[in-house]
Amino acid sequence: MSGNEDPSDDLKVTPPKTWATGVPAVAHALEYSLGQTSPRRTALTLLNINQAKGIDCPGCAWPEPAPGKRHLNEYCENGAKHINDEATSRRVTPDFFREHSIAELDGKSDYWLNQQGRLTEPMVKRPGGTHYEPIGWDEALDLLAGELKALASPDEALFYVSGRLSNEGAFLLQLFARAYGTNNLPDCSNMCHESSGSAMSETLGTGKGTVSLDDIHNSDLIFVVGQNPGTNHPRMLSALEETKRNGGRIVAVNTLPEAGLNRFKHPQRPRGVVGRGTQIADQFLHIRAGGDLALFQALNLLLLEAEDAAPGTVLDRSFVERNTTGFAEFAEHARQLSWEHVLEATGLSREEIEEVHERVLKSEKIIVCWAMGLTQHKHGVPTIREIVNFLMLRGNIGKPGSGACPVRGHSNVQGDRTMGVWERMPQKFLDALEKEFGFTPPARHGLDAVNGIRAMYEGRAKLFLGVAGNFVRATPDSAVTEEAMRGCRLTAHISTKLNRSHTVCGETALILPTLGRSDRDFQATGEQFITVEDSMSEVHASRGKLPPASPHLLSEVAIIGRLAEKTLGDMPHIPWKEFEADYGTIRDRISRVVPGFEDFNARVAVPGGFRLPNPPNEGVFPTPSGKAVFTRNDFTMPQVPEGHLLLQTLRSHDQWNTIWYAPNDRYRGIHNARRVVMVNPADLDALGVADRSTVDLVSVWRDGKERRAENFTVVAYPASRGSAAAYYPETNVLVPLDSVADISNCPTSKGVVVRLEPAADAA
Ligand code: SF4
Repeated sequence: MSGNEDPSDDLKVTPPKTWATGVPAVAHALEYSLGQTSPRRTALTLLNINQAKGIDCPGCAWPEPAPGKRHLNEYCENGAKHINDEATSRRVTPDFFREHSIAELDGKSDYWLNQQGRLTEPMVKRPGGTHYEPIGWDEALDLLAGELKALASPDEALFYVSGRLSNEGAFLLQLFARAYGTNNLPDCSNMCHESSGSAMSETLGTGKGTVSLDDIHNSDLIFVVGQNPGTNHPRMLSALEETKRNGGRIVAVNTLPEAGLNRFKHPQRPRGVVGRGTQIADQFLHIRAGGDLALFQALNLLLLEAEDAAPGTVLDRSFVERNTTGFAEFAEHARQLSWEHVLEATGLSREEIEEVHERVLKSEKIIVCWAMGLTQHKHGVPTIREIVNFLMLRGNIGKPGSGACPVRGHSNVQGDRTMGVWERMPQKFLDALEKEFGFTPPARHGLDAVNGIRAMYEGRAKLFLGVAGNFVRATPDSAVTEEAMRGCRLTAHISTKLNRSHTVCGETALILPTLGRSDRDFQATGEQFITVEDSMSEVHASRGKLPPASPHLLSEVAIIGRLAEKTLGDMPHIPWKEFEADYGTIRDRISRVVPGFEDFNARVAVPGGFRLPNPPNEGVFPTPSGKAVFTRNDFTMPQVPEGHLLLQTLRSHDQWNTIWYAPNDRYRGIHNARRVVMVNPADLDALGVADRSTVDLVSVWRDGKERRAENFTVVAYPASRGSAAAYYPETNVLVPLDSVADISNCPTSKGVVVRLEPAADAA
């Protein structure tokens, strides 16, 4: 792990910000963008990002307003940085790889690797090689296809997808994997919203959120739970500002008092430029890590008791009776809750929870939004099930201005899943593939991200193909993951930029450089566009605007299609070449396989695209009983031994997923360092650890193995009591591979038990 050291020598700490965005965000976005590329290219990307005929932001999956209601600048600081990080004028050429051995690159930081620029030509590291060397496309894909064909079983291969891949690329990749004979399609969703999908599929019959942007604007009360929109989905703040303007109220629930949860200064409104901006949270619950299940259980108990006191006035009996099952069992279970346990788990006072309850009683339309702060706990699935209980009690599913809103973090992560990138796609989907393409997809479930790493580590999987993303830095248990990757016969990555996954090589390794979202995509029948699905099930087109970063790049669709053809040979019902020549032909096939995409090409041609059907909003619940399901969720809370803290891994503000753009976390007041751990001052006192001391973080797990992240500077910070916060990917090394959420298998990156030990250097 030596390659990612970032000594904190220059650490500077300033008071955390109490508001987000404003003019400084514009200045930072422009500064970074202009450091990457020319003013002309910057203008081109920024004028086109998130516009109806423009480029979909490759950042998060927050939706755009309808065409006509969009601003000229419909993007946030992070979106601007992200698109221009991709549109950079810097290039990584074969000369670069001649000059730098893989071992040398492995010693560089994530920042340095990313800053080298766009990949330009396919490269190979041959067995025993020390450097990447150039390779032609045909030879590269022949080599990869040859290795795939040589495996003893298709299940020895993994086909990983990160959320940047388009619908068209994702559909082709899953088609290829299944025609090849495996469902091993791990994706980044396995590591983020898998708990949301598990909980919502069981209770509502859909793994997707039920709200639209209009619902957000018109809600009476929105909960923002375990989520930091100011950094991770910044334009969500504009939507919440609209909620406030329309009279709605917001309750923020988080372990850290994030700037964006407090106040938002809209850089395109006078009030945001020169005024005080908009107060976002009307009430902030500074909850303990992992206390959200207890909070919603308490709110549900209070609702049941309020109904007892005034029958027929609190619960939506008609919704419950018409649409749900399991209410009586749920209610009986809910009444057994102990307030003593609730207060211990949440760290909140009863008065605070009762204040929220009063807000709930006054609100007809309620939305709960959440992100990784809930999903990446061991009890993430029961927590989200309890939120569904909460919403259903007052009929807040399927009613305008209400609903469940898991906020997705990567632009097409939801679409990739819709397209079939999942190791457990339902048989109905597989049957539709069979009917359309004339082969029988394997029925046995494949491997998700965690099980895929385990399979590589144990030698059961031998070939890894990743499309987009940075697998070794996005995954838990970094040392184990790296060893797993190094043990493969072949690792290959379809990528736009250099990252650490390219330096952690299998025996043979391939870099297959591809077009980015901002690049124009020309194929045999003319210029192509791709499509994506946002967090609210809106599907729309994205069109690149810049000349491709290199004449040697192929699109993801072309790489996947050519590889499939070389691996599988002619398949009469799968015209890979035709797909490459005209992406419209892929969309025609999607329209016949994936429900909701009927007449895809015509509907996506409309500016702004279309919204996929959402059965719960139509009063349809595709569960086995045909009803939404109340669940009984046993009270639980993280168990943290004396002298330990519960660590959550998180992003800094100057970071996008695994990429960091600067060693700063502006809103939290951390500058010039990333190896920082934020801990409540009272916990530091109790532990006898001094502010600004240097410590090692040591994770405690039942396998007894020591996982250590060295040389972190302690910063006294208003984190909730008993918790600690530090940035990933540096702290991924602390997350044990076996530490996963029940049911969903999502790594518990928000609930890692650690102790702080004086660093050897400091002892
Ligand atoms: S909010 Fe998300 S989608 Fe929108 S510009 Fe920012 S990063 Fe991109």
